[in-house]
Amino acid sequence: MVSKEKIELLKQKIDEADAIVVGGASGMSAASGFVFYYQDDEVYRKLAGGLAKKYDIHNYFDLFYDRRLSRGELWAAMLRATRYVYECYTGETYTDLARLLQGKNYYIATTNQDAQFFRTFPDERITRIQGDNRYWQCSRPCHDEIYYNKEKVFELSDKIVGDALPDELIPRCPHCGKELAPWVRGYTFLEGEYYQREMKRYLDFLRANARRKVLFLELGVGMMTPMFIKEPFMNMTYQFPHAFYATINPQHAIIPKEIVKKSLAIGDDIAITLKQLLGESIAGMKGFNPKEAFTPSRVY
Ligand SMILES: [Zn+2]
Repeated sequence: MVSKEKIELLKQKIDEADAIVVGGASGMSAASGFVFYYQDDEVYRKLAGGLAKKYDIHNYFDLFYDRRLSRGELWAAMLRATRYVYECYTGETYTDLARLLQGKNYYIATTNQDAQFFRTFPDERITRIQGDNRYWQCSRPCHDEIYYNKEKVFELSDKIVGDALPDELIPRCPHCGKELAPWVRGYTFLEGEYYQREMKRYLDFLRANARRKVLFLELGVGMMTPMFIKEPFMNMTYQFPHAFYATINPQHAIIPKEIVKKSLAIGDDIAITLKQLLGESIAGMKGFNPKEAFTPSRVY
């Protein structure tokens, strides 16, 4: 449980802010129970099927990046994981954050690819820095287009045989015939017109509010990709005259000494902290256990 003083200070900063820039990352989803990306849980075992034992792999990221899988096996795993993105519940950290930000002038930048922010916030207030699993792109990529994949994902995931999608069903680029690929960060991640439009919207919000009271609210950014949210937030807090930086992060609530007077670190569970900010009961909530957690500093 976070101290009353810290909660009161953050509530005050939220109330006073002219603008709130939210940086949401994997910790937001993990705090809502979505841990299969890094941990061996029931969801992971369902997505991996027989591949978990066959390759001795115990979380989805390791499965996704393992080169021993055949193309059909990789597609089977991707299709099941993407279908899960469409079918899973909406995380409570997201609905709680939406209630907390109601009526505020805010913008969200996220490295998450699970589209949970889109369940509770309007599209035009979100920028996806690392793409979104609900879309495919050409794997080369030969052209600047992303494809919403819901219908195809449902159709093809029903056609998986054993733990592999038959080769002839692997989705292919309508222009060059190469395989399609999830629109997520990797060597060939498509940062085309669609991506640039969202980045511009984010930068416009930052520019418009740079001289006002802006609160940078970092939620669960790990050390796998600190360069997309955590470090820019720290830099902008240093540079913007009236900025304040708050990080809610059970593993990596770090404050550089240069901004220590403009910052607040809450090294506690995000789900519990949000409930406390809303003034609601946290009875029976299980806090974050670092012993059970994946280390997000690992590099893929
Ligand atoms: Zn192509």
